Amino acid sequence: MIDVNRIRADFPGLAQTVHGKPLVFLDNAASAQKPRAVIDAVAHHYAHDYANVHRGVHQLAERATDAYEGAREKVRAFLGAASTREIVFVRGTTEAINLVAHSWGRHALRAGDEVLITEMEHHANIVPWQLMAEEIGFTLRVAPILDDGRLDMEAFAALLNERTRLVAVAHMSNVLGTVNPVQEIVDMAHAHGALCLVDGAQSVSHLPVNVQELGCDFYAFSGHKLFGPTGIGVLWAREALLEAMPPYQGGGEMIREVSFQRSTWADLPYKFEAGTPHIVGAIGLGAAIDYVTAIGLQAIAEYEHGLLEYATEALESVPGLTLVGRAPHKGAVLSFVMDCAHPHDIGTILDGEGVAVRAGHHCAMPLMERLGLPATTRASFAFYNTREEADALVAALYKVREIFA
Ligand code: PMP
Repeated sequence: MIDVNRIRADFPGLAQTVHGKPLVFLDNAASAQKPRAVIDAVAHHYAHDYANVHRGVHQLAERATDAYEGAREKVRAFLGAASTREIVFVRGTTEAINLVAHSWGRHALRAGDEVLITEMEHHANIVPWQLMAEEIGFTLRVAPILDDGRLDMEAFAALLNERTRLVAVAHMSNVLGTVNPVQEIVDMAHAHGALCLVDGAQSVSHLPVNVQELGCDFYAFSGHKLFGPTGIGVLWAREALLEAMPPYQGGGEMIREVSFQRSTWADLPYKFEAGTPHIVGAIGLGAAIDYVTAIGLQAIAEYEHGLLEYATEALESVPGLTLVGRAPHKGAVLSFVMDCAHPHDIGTILDGEGVAVRAGHHCAMPLMERLGLPATTRASFAFYNTREEADALVAALYKVREIFA
């Protein structure tokens, strides 16, 4: 059971007013607020234990290394990964997918191969594949969605063939909230000899994830949407794949030996962590993982499902409002349009009422085109949001109607 009042007290950012109104923060799909535990872990490390990792022989370097590597173990346990050798710290989901595209993609893909994505992908899971396709000459295929926001599984199945080398799919859509049937998708990809990359940017903070149960080959997520710092994220991949992949970036930390003739690479995961890493970011992410794990992702998922049902019904009561994304299995992301106002104007009026939402294409322009919409307004919930906040959103939407209708 979620004690939402106790949880809210852990997030100093939530306890403020904007434009003289209590803040209602419903922009969690873009980035989430930070609990005191994360803020304190970051401040404590900078104040007491800060030094560069791995190379030092002194006390602070040892403490920093222990904390950084401790965070890697927390990520391993959080994802249910077999080994910390499979946990690569990166800047975020975007960098994780670019790493796979540039390292695995350049190494494994040939002209004539196919990479299959879906119509609901974020630009982060489209553009890296386009860049590589241009270089290598493989074909990027796109599985369509159904009108309610589900992936069209029949069309998806029909697009899989012996040329498909990778299926790259969002676990949860940042626009529609759709939770894709990743296990089924992985099985179908594997049956065709293809690997499967899962973009977990939206899912890790809302539902339990176990990469071994999902059976996927790559899993990417960002710390900042999981109540951790910005600038830190994770690529998980099977050890054998990472072993076979060439380095993505060269520099310090990722080498075993360097000479002007030739260099050799460090063991996993350091082969993929060139340069001084975001040490304190990783430590903050570890604190965020401790925080959500103590509450429990299953409890979070159940609580948010209740919020989704409540908010969906409440929004449906607003005249002239149409929800976009009605998949039966979805997270608490509510995109909508109104017949009386542009999404950006709605966002501005809501801000005046203290309600923070996002308006625009949400880095999913091809999806917007499929939906026939230039933009939507999006309210995205986290486990610290309440039904009263959904009511405040609805009250603010009535204000929009008053102004524009
Ligand atoms: N994929 C999805 C589904 C997302 O929602 C986002 C963030 N909006 C990303 C990828 C990119 O994440 P980041 O900007 O943290 O790299």
